[in-house]
Amino acid sequence: MLSQAVQDYLKAIYKLQGNKPVSTTELAKELNVSGASVTGMLKRLSTMGLVSYNSYHGAKLTPAGEKVALETIRFHRLLELYLKEKLNYPLDKVHEEACRLEHFISEEFIERVNQILGDPKFDPHGHPIPTKEGKIESFDELPLSEAEIGKNYTISHLDDDNPELLGYLESLGILPDTKIELIEKSPFYGPISLKLLKSQKIHTIGYEVAKRIFLRNTN
Ligand SMILES: [Zn+2]
Repeated sequence: MLSQAVQDYLKAIYKLQGNKPVSTTELAKELNVSGASVTGMLKRLSTMGLVSYNSYHGAKLTPAGEKVALETIRFHRLLELYLKEKLNYPLDKVHEEACRLEHFISEEFIERVNQILGDPKFDPHGHPIPTKEGKIESFDELPLSEAEIGKNYTISHLDDDNPELLGYLESLGILPDTKIELIEKSPFYGPISLKLLKSQKIHTIGYEVAKRIFLRNTN
């Protein structure tokens, strides 16, 4: 089994890389470590064949590295759902607990968790769960901060790395799979009002919060 640090680096590169390689600075910020230790680790990952790394361009996952990253993400997201659904964890606690557990469980353990949960497609934050074969669904999303007034949307996912924020959103009923209408948007990055279509409740939230809520068009 690969070390916890290796798994965390691969996961972080997967999260940050779009079509372009990830810089040492971006990774250092994401993992909260020094630039020097990032460089050392990237060299190690490159000799392991998990990352292609060049000090000018940055790091990119190789197919082998992507496979490990997606497996770790599968473990993480299934654990989060298990904690929420079967152990009654509140939404704001599942990410941290899953971050710890994901490094210590076996494939057999996670497949049993998957079976008990009925082969789910999404974690409790609305992120897609990679399949056992390492396939992950992608769909078009936009942050609430860029949504249009008067249009209906479905919340697709919430950023999972801020427990206080998640607890707050959960208390308002702003959760994945909820249908909303955008009511009002103040200019200059001001507050945004949305209506929960089911309860007809209206909530006003800050622009910075809206950037962490992701939507898809309701069809
Ligand atoms: Zn998480």
